[in-house]
Amino acid sequence: MIKSSNLNQFKGLFHGFSTISDGNFKTLEQKAVTSLGFANKSLILAEQVHGNKIGIVSNNVSETLKDVDGLVTKIKGLILGIKAADCLPIILYEPMSEIIGIAHAGWRGTLVNISQNIVISMEQLGANRKNIIAVLGPHIRDCCYIIDEQRKNLFEQRLASQGLPLRGYLTSKNNKFYLSLAKINIDQLKRVGLKKTNIEEIRLCTYHRPELFFSFRRQAKESGRMLNFLCLLT
Ligand SMILES: [Zn+2]
Repeated sequence: MIKSSNLNQFKGLFHGFSTISDGNFKTLEQKAVTSLGFANKSLILAEQVHGNKIGIVSNNVSETLKDVDGLVTKIKGLILGIKAADCLPIILYEPMSEIIGIAHAGWRGTLVNISQNIVISMEQLGANRKNIIAVLGPHIRDCCYIIDEQRKNLFEQRLASQGLPLRGYLTSKNNKFYLSLAKINIDQLKRVGLKKTNIEEIRLCTYHRPELFFSFRRQAKESGRMLNFLCLLT
């Protein structure tokens, strides 16, 4: 289990980014859920459709929220979870008002600025964006994330409309383009009002570290899923 040093200091918060040794959450094996210490808690998942909609979790029923890629809540004892294999998971906590959020920022979610939407949804629940702490979890980083010309052009257009020039996030080596989803999401979070010092990056690449992570790019259909989660403790 990978933990954030910034979030670890909060006793009222339980969070983590799972690794292979914690289990495969593709089908959410009950055993793996129990091994994470979830036995008596409800796990709420986002359906994950690669969009930018956020679900506000207002009840304590264990279920999957349809048509969303992010979840926010202020209810204690509910675990919010996102499954991923290369996509970028972002977990967020506002300690003053005790509001949590989690987002699934794959390349499509990044294009449509899910980072902005998760912050706005937390604020709708009463959070102050100046206090929000965000942690970017393990994902396919710019050492390995090669994109083709078509995807590059798509990013160029969409990021320009957000006032973010692509050149800050793209490197090219041997005629290949490498994109940093982390850098884009960090700038999107800063632009919506998060403090730079409140944004932490777990600098681990899922493609790069087969002993730790599943990777969809590396394993295709064989790939399992990690679970990224957080919960306000009761
Ligand atoms: Zn890598």
